[in-house]
Amino acid sequence: MIVITDPTGKDPNGAAAGSMSFAPNMFQSTFLVSKKLHVAVLAGGLGKGTARLEAILACIRRLELGMPLEEAVRAGVEKSPTDRLLVGGPRRGIVVGGSYDITVVIVKGNKIIIKQYHSSAGPNIVKIPPNVKCAVIHLRNTPGNPLYGTATKVRVEAAIMAGRMIRDGLPATEVLTRVMGYVARKSGEKYGGGAVNITAGLSTGDTFVPARLNERGFPLDAPYRKVCPKCGWSAPYPAAGRYTRCPVCGSSLKTEYAWQVARDLITVRKNQPVVRVYGVRSAYDKATIVEIVQSLIQRGKRDPTHIARAIDNAIDNNTLLGYDYVLPSDIKVEPKANLVTVYMRPLPPGYKKRPLKTPVPSEVLHALGLLGSALGVTLIVLGCVRELLHRRTRGW
Ligand SMILES: [Zn+2]
Repeated sequence: MIVITDPTGKDPNGAAAGSMSFAPNMFQSTFLVSKKLHVAVLAGGLGKGTARLEAILACIRRLELGMPLEEAVRAGVEKSPTDRLLVGGPRRGIVVGGSYDITVVIVKGNKIIIKQYHSSAGPNIVKIPPNVKCAVIHLRNTPGNPLYGTATKVRVEAAIMAGRMIRDGLPATEVLTRVMGYVARKSGEKYGGGAVNITAGLSTGDTFVPARLNERGFPLDAPYRKVCPKCGWSAPYPAAGRYTRCPVCGSSLKTEYAWQVARDLITVRKNQPVVRVYGVRSAYDKATIVEIVQSLIQRGKRDPTHIARAIDNAIDNNTLLGYDYVLPSDIKVEPKANLVTVYMRPLPPGYKKRPLKTPVPSEVLHALGLLGSALGVTLIVLGCVRELLHRRTRGW
């Protein structure tokens, strides 16, 4: 799904894309956002991994050369006609080609226009012009899904829901993630996948993505964690199920669903810094560190020393396990970009306590973190195709 609520690209939350599925080998479905080009590329369908990869690469190459979306999509689906490419961004519109079942929503003033399109293969291109508020939802049921047969109905409901939210002025990041929560619950096509903010270049990264190929990711309609609104303590599910009150301060806890976590990860908020974290062991650790840094900065503490001390506290009280202590030099604060970068040093397996020597220099971690952004492209999903694509794009 792609949603554009600000086609001019001025609102940092005005364009977003997301993807999920019931299929265990979901990706197979691929998902890219280019920070440089401000465009998202979603791919899926019946083709084999390699054919789809060729389609994606053909499409991206043309986008890199500044060609129109339509040409890029056409070139892509020529390589693999039974796959689908859904490509779009602010100032560019949205183009779909290949094999799809989509509902298109266009909002003009108070008017919501909804149309449906079907294509089983080939260069059947649907184009939405660059200057309109719009959404495109592709939805099919995967065989084996207990809610098989719901796709057509849910696709239309989702489109109406998106149309109303766009008309009411909600930003794309909000519209997209709410619709994803709804579609996950009603159609069963619910496993992450993830979401991106196309304008600002933020993504959910590997938060909801399966650790191994041919597994399912995290369901976007399920509770993801419990958070204490008073002191910031949090625990992920399933462990969170054991708590009704905060073990630190006794306050009642707030349950956050995965789609809400997705929304918070891709939404740019005033005064809220973007936090990048390298060298973490899990998506949960990353979310914990992002939260620590954001709550400090909202309280006016943007000094690297403060931030390092707060992360060290989380290491001391075992909220973060298996990391060396953080030094102020491991934290880069860039006030102009409203960006904070944190380099964590994971300890070798088996170590619980801090060793005497630092195992990994932060430069190495930085390089590792940047592997995912070759060409200014952040890759969200998939196992072996992700590997392949990394190898290919790094060669460019
Ligand atoms: Zn608390």
